[in-house]
Amino acid sequence: MKYILSLDQGTTSSRAVLLDEKGQIVATGQEEFPQLFPKPGWVEHDPEAIWSSQWNSIEKALEAADCGWDAVAAIGITNQRETVVAWDADSGEALGTAIVWQDRRTADFCATLRDAGKESWIQERTGLLLDPYFSAGKMKWIRENRPEAAALAEEGRLRFGTIDTWLVWKLSGGSCYVTDVSNASRTQLMDLRSCSWDAELRELFGVPESALPRIVDSSGELAMTAAEVTGGREIRIGGIAGDQQAALFGQLCFQPGMVKSTYGTGCFVLMNVGRGPAVSRNRLLSTVAWRIAGQVEYALEGSVFVGGSAVQWLRDQLGVIKSASEVEALASQVEDADGVVVVPAFTGLGAPYWDPHARGAIMGLTRGSSAAHIARAILDGIANQVGDVVEAMESDSGRELKELRADGGASANALLMQIQADVAGAEVSCPKILETTALGAGFLAGLAVGFWKSREELVALVEADRSYQPALGDEERRQRLAKWRKAVRRSLAWEE
Ligand code: ADP
Repeated sequence: MKYILSLDQGTTSSRAVLLDEKGQIVATGQEEFPQLFPKPGWVEHDPEAIWSSQWNSIEKALEAADCGWDAVAAIGITNQRETVVAWDADSGEALGTAIVWQDRRTADFCATLRDAGKESWIQERTGLLLDPYFSAGKMKWIRENRPEAAALAEEGRLRFGTIDTWLVWKLSGGSCYVTDVSNASRTQLMDLRSCSWDAELRELFGVPESALPRIVDSSGELAMTAAEVTGGREIRIGGIAGDQQAALFGQLCFQPGMVKSTYGTGCFVLMNVGRGPAVSRNRLLSTVAWRIAGQVEYALEGSVFVGGSAVQWLRDQLGVIKSASEVEALASQVEDADGVVVVPAFTGLGAPYWDPHARGAIMGLTRGSSAAHIARAILDGIANQVGDVVEAMESDSGRELKELRADGGASANALLMQIQADVAGAEVSCPKILETTALGAGFLAGLAVGFWKSREELVALVEADRSYQPALGDEERRQRLAKWRKAVRRSLAWEE
C-alpha cells in the first residue's frame, strides 16, 4: 500500500498525515514546539525545533501506520506563511531564531515606507499591503541585526527561506533551495504577475538575489529528498503551498468565485479569482493560490485576527463557559442577541479595516442583557467579520458568493455556521475531513506523481458533511448589518 505523506508545519505544532488513494487519513503524528517571546511584540521560533518537531511527527505517523519510507509515494508540504529563517549555505546552520509572521518588530519601518508614499506601488506589484506581517521586512531586520548576516551576504552564503524552503533544505540534505510560488507571493519581494523576484523590491529591503530560493510550481517535480535522510530512498517532494492556499485546494475551490473560510484562532477567508490577479480596492490581499504546470491561479484573501479566540476569551476571561464547545448551548438559550453587538477587535481589526488601534467593544447592553446574549453576540461578531471580508471580495471580484466552504475548529459549531449563512446570505458547507490544509498539500503532491490523475478525481473523493442555508429575511439582515457597522465605527481608532 502506498501513501502520500503530507507535512503541515503550523505556528504552534508540526503535523504529519498519511493519505491513502481514497483521500482518507490513515495515520497522523503531531508535536508542539516552543514559542519564544523575547520582547513585547516579538515572536520567534527555533528553526531546529521546527525541524525536529516535524521530523518526530513524521516518525509518529509512519509508526502509527506501521510502515516505513517505502510506503511513501510522494511528500507534500504546507506551512505557516511569512515566517523567515536565515542560514549559512556552507554550514547549513541557522543564523539565530526564525522571525514569526505574528512578529511586529518591523512596524516602524513599514510606517516609514508608508509615509514615503510607497504603499500603493508595493500593493500594485505584490498584491500586499505594508504590514510587519510579511517576510521582506523581517529579512531586512536579520541582515541588519544579526552579526554574521552582512558578511555572509557579501560572500553569497546567506540563505533566506520561508518554512517550506527550510523543510525542503533539510529533507534534501542541503541540496535543494526552492520555494513554491504561493509562499513566495507572501514575502513582499515577488512580482505578482511575473512570479519572479523583483529587483526594485529586493533593493528596497536589502535582500541579495543569492539569498533567495528558486521559485517553483506548487505541484510537480519540485525537489527530491536525500536518500540518507529518508530511509535510503530518494522521495519526490511533489506539492508545496502556504497553509491558507493549501486549505483552499483541500476545499476543492478550483473554480473562480469559490470561497473557503477557516475558523481557527483567527479566520482566514480566500476566494479563487482565476488566472489573473484581482488587485483589491477594499484592502484585501491579492495573492497566488497555486501554480501547476506553469499555470498560475490567483486568490483574494482577508484575514480576521480574532475568530475562535473570542470564544476562548469568553471561557478564560469571563469564565461563563468551561469549554469552547459550550458556547453553542449558551448562545442557543436566546432567540437572538437582543440588540447586543460584540466587536471582537481585541488586537485591532484586520481586513478590510486594518486598524491596529481598534479595540474590542460590547454595545447595546440593557438591564436585561445576559451572558447568553453576549455569547450569541460573540458568534455574531465572528460571522460579521467574515461577512465583511466576503462583501469586500464580492465587490473586488464582481462575483456573488454562492457557497462558503468552512473548516477549522470553530466550524464544529452549528449555530455559528447557521449565523454565518444568514450573515453572508449564502450556503455554508463543511467537509467530512476538516484537515483541509494537510489534505490540500497532499493533493498537490499526489497529482504530481499520478497518485490521483486529475482535479475531477479529487472532487469525487471528498465528501461533504453538513450544510446550512441562509434563513434571514432581507430587512432583518440589513438592520443587523447596520448595527454591526455602527459598532465597528465606534471601536476604530480607540487607542489613538
Ligand atoms: P488553530 O488552528 O488556529 O489553533 P483550531 O482550528 O484548532 O485553531 O480551532 C480552535 C479555535 O476554535 C479556538 O479558538 C476555540 O476557541 C475555537 N472553538 C473550538 N470549538 C468551538 C466551538 N464549538 N464553538 C466556537 N468556537 C470553538
